[in-house]
Amino acid sequence: MDGLKIVVIGAGIGGLSAGIALKQAGFDVEIYDRVKELRPVGAGISLWSNGVKVLNRLGLGAEMAKIGGQMNRMEYRTQTGELLNDIDLMPLIHDVGQRPYPVARRDLQHMLMQAFPGDVKLGHKCVGVEEDETGVTAFFENGHQARGDLLIAADGIRSILRTHVLGQEVEPQYGGYINWNGLVPADESLAPRDCWIIYVGEHKRVSMMPVAGDRFYFFFDVPLPKGTPANPDTYKAELKQHFQGWADPVQTLIERLDPYAVARPEIHDVGPIDRFVKGRVALLGDSAHATCPDLGQGGCQAMEDSLVLTNYLMTTNLGVEYALKRYEMERKARANAVVQKARQRAEQIHGKEPDVTQRWYSQLATESPTDVTGAITKVIMAGPLR
Ligand SMILES: Cc1cc2nc3c(=O)[nH]c(=O)nc-3n(C[C@H](O)[C@H](O)[C@H](O)COP(=O)(O)OP(=O)(O)OC[C@H]3O[C@@H](n4cnc5c(N)ncnc54)[C@H](O)[C@@H]3O)c2cc1C
Repeated sequence: MDGLKIVVIGAGIGGLSAGIALKQAGFDVEIYDRVKELRPVGAGISLWSNGVKVLNRLGLGAEMAKIGGQMNRMEYRTQTGELLNDIDLMPLIHDVGQRPYPVARRDLQHMLMQAFPGDVKLGHKCVGVEEDETGVTAFFENGHQARGDLLIAADGIRSILRTHVLGQEVEPQYGGYINWNGLVPADESLAPRDCWIIYVGEHKRVSMMPVAGDRFYFFFDVPLPKGTPANPDTYKAELKQHFQGWADPVQTLIERLDPYAVARPEIHDVGPIDRFVKGRVALLGDSAHATCPDLGQGGCQAMEDSLVLTNYLMTTNLGVEYALKRYEMERKARANAVVQKARQRAEQIHGKEPDVTQRWYSQLATESPTDVTGAITKVIMAGPLR
């Protein structure tokens, strides 16, 4: 369908990757975000090969390789540092045809912003939409209105436009744990520079992975009640307490991190939900399927959404609503399955049923590395770019 005008609400990973894909397809795209300055929440993200392949398709492969960390291996260790499993990632990379890239969120956002050929209209908070037979209008708190042939609601986990699409509010569900994440200079006393290292024990996790600029993206996960008070002044003391007796590199990491540059989200997800689309409005990214980060797939799914939506708009000629329905059909199955799998994984890692977590620890020590990479390969290869 030629000449479509598309309004995108939200300039996160989802809104920007959709904006780039749609512009490249020749559509007229406007992106709006409520914030006055775009600053990613969180320090890093690991983009698995399915997400990276979408970026390759958008012509961003070389840029991505520059900002991505070279992760060749994964190591699982016990809380006291004994090796549970040493996993070569090369077979996975070979099987799926693309390396995964851990990346600093700021670098990723900068790359996507540079690649979007247009201005993102900041300081525009969308407060509602109205559809009619010929188009859709977005209304903003500042009085501005934007009209398009369709609207993409990439407004994140607390999406207000999800309520428009579903006809009811769906609250994000608490995933049961809190995550502290940030960046530190890479150093062999913390972890090998080409390795994703993960310490597990007591239903908690500590992880470090390389990103460009000789840094590690790190995170700590601890199952805690929702609403546990947070204050950067006490992050180090809390982490020392939660990880008392853990291996030396974990203690060194706590010493070295800058608590005022650490993000501390309570992990939530959304869904599975029944609809991604209503008329000319399509949910995309976390607004449709916010995902526990335990598979590293939420952002990758937003990228897949962007590609699939663009393809249907380019290749069908039965109208906007038809193209969006096809998008919904394809993406609902895939993204909802990932949401469910990631939640199961979060529960397994974080001790929802302590026996299950205990069995997982034992399994980590005995399973073959190719079983671990095989499971990741399966998730990657279920995406649209194989
Ligand atoms: C701790 C953590 C680790 C993660 N790790 C990974 C990982 O390793 N790999 C991976 O693939 N994914 C990961 N994810 C998931 C990933 O971060 C998200 O899936 C992704 O950022 C979602 O992008 P989005 O564009 O859909 O939403 P967001 O990034 O939330 O963007 C939404 C945008 O919409 C704007 N907005 C909201 N409401 C309005 C409004 N009313 N009007 C205008 N603008 C509005 C917001 O300001 C924001 O800029 C992780 C998530 C967390 C929390």
